[in-house]
Amino acid sequence: MTTLRLILGDQLNPRHSWFARHRPDVLYVLMEVRQETDYVLHHAQKILAVFAAMRDFAGQLTAAGHRVHYLAIDDAGNRPSIPANLDLLIAHHGVTRFEYQAPDEWRLDQQLSRYASTLGMPSAMVDSEHFLTGRDDAATLFANRRQWLMEHFYRHMRSRHQVLLQDDGRPLGGQWNFDHDNRQAWPGLPHEPADWRRGHDHRALWQQIQAAGVASFGEPCADDLRWPLNRAEALEHLDAFVTQALPHFGSYQDALSYRATRLFHSLLSFALNTKMLHPREVIARAEETCRAGDVSLPAAEGFIRQILGWREYVRGVYWANMPEYEQLNFFDHRRPLPAWFWNGQTRMRCLAHSIGQSLAQAYAHHIQRLMVIGNFGLLAGLDPAALHRWYLGVYVDAFEWVELPNTLGMSQFADGGRLATKPYVSSAAYIDRMSDYCKGCHYDKRDRTGARACPFNALYWDFFRRHRAQLEGQHRLAMVFRQLDRMDAGTLSAIEHKVRSLQDFETL
Ligand code: FAD
Ligand code: SF4
Repeated sequence: MTTLRLILGDQLNPRHSWFARHRPDVLYVLMEVRQETDYVLHHAQKILAVFAAMRDFAGQLTAAGHRVHYLAIDDAGNRPSIPANLDLLIAHHGVTRFEYQAPDEWRLDQQLSRYASTLGMPSAMVDSEHFLTGRDDAATLFANRRQWLMEHFYRHMRSRHQVLLQDDGRPLGGQWNFDHDNRQAWPGLPHEPADWRRGHDHRALWQQIQAAGVASFGEPCADDLRWPLNRAEALEHLDAFVTQALPHFGSYQDALSYRATRLFHSLLSFALNTKMLHPREVIARAEETCRAGDVSLPAAEGFIRQILGWREYVRGVYWANMPEYEQLNFFDHRRPLPAWFWNGQTRMRCLAHSIGQSLAQAYAHHIQRLMVIGNFGLLAGLDPAALHRWYLGVYVDAFEWVELPNTLGMSQFADGGRLATKPYVSSAAYIDRMSDYCKGCHYDKRDRTGARACPFNALYWDFFRRHRAQLEGQHRLAMVFRQLDRMDAGTLSAIEHKVRSLQDFETL
């Protein structure tokens, strides 16, 4: 009697209860499979980091005495899909029971539940033991409400998980949210901490991936790959973040800079999303550091809100709205992505830096993703499904359950406001206030319609003109429409003319 337990590439949690005891009748299976490298075009570092971490995990399980079958990308007999490989392994090992951990992506959830139901043997999907909420918890919380609100969800989570609370159940410091303290531009000091991540030489693995014919884009950095391989390294990252960056996380959370890549962000998303780290331990670490007086409450609260609030919330949005969520296109935007999304070559300095960094490092921080790249995408009317595929491919932390609601919902408002209460768009003024991008830019941040005018300016006003009927009712946008109404016909027509002159955005 053999049970086959499948471990997916983002289920690298050595503390899962599966591994609490040795079971000679259990065979653990991990596979590098073309289905997973090819469902979208991925950044080279994403493929490398996931495969390297899977190999490390399999090695640890074997060393701990578990039975493991690992299918490498170039193994003879490795089939292109998970079910095809499972069929072979089940026959080969005389498997009598199939188990898997709940996948986070709809695509895999459907595939594996279909597979299990047709196997003709007992099977079970078990909890991945990672999240702080069930797939449907957010939907249950908002069952009788017209509008979902992250802030409501977040306060519920703070109370439910007893995070940053006083003894009487009220929030520490007397308020739930210190967002207003967290909106400073970065003046260049304190310095961005040095990159604390350990480098790895994965050139041999990269050769195997290439020899197998896997397509990718972006810089592989195979000789110095800096994403954590395992839980021990992820814990080192957490330590380094808490001591070196967390004290400044809050203040500069929304800042952008040409002179920095990470600023004071944690770079923990890859380790969290592959389940090397549990969100509870990351939150607890930030809270302890705050209670010990080593970081301020606004810094700790700002960071904890991202994980306890946003991360769990977007997952709830995903499971409440799939599979139709992927198709939503509220504004009916259809434009293809300009070619510079694949090489970073544009004269718009903010985009050249944010996209260039994404291609070089498979990482951009939240405000680069939202208020530079996403902002442009929405103002320019780029196809949200094409943008979704780009975001899903380019970032090392991109798994659909978290990427899709962030891209389609938060960044592109393609869900008509299910996730965000208003579109996240801005003209050059916001980017200039939060960054040093505009100072050295080819374009003029103050100009709206001249030859060198910043494209964000005309696009911003044209966006609200074009979508007035869909957005006018939103009270948070009343001021924008009042400003639009004050513009004379000549100004409006100059803006329209300017936008038309930008054509397909290829030459910006
Ligand atoms: P920090 O800024 O240090 O934040 C700490 C942690 O909070 C992150 O590691 C992450 O786990 C969590 N977090 C922060 N913001 C969010 C958020 N909006 N949603 C969910 N979790 C959040 N995050 C992903 O993990 N994968 C994605 O594919 C992804 N795609 C995105 C696409 C767009 C268009 C946008 C606007 C955001 C996206 N995010 C995604 C959310 C966020 O930008 C990243 O989690 C963050 O930049 C990762 O870097 P970090 O670990 O340094 O984060
Ligand atoms: Fe970006 Fe416009 Fe500023 Fe240039 S001027 S960096 S394009 S916002």
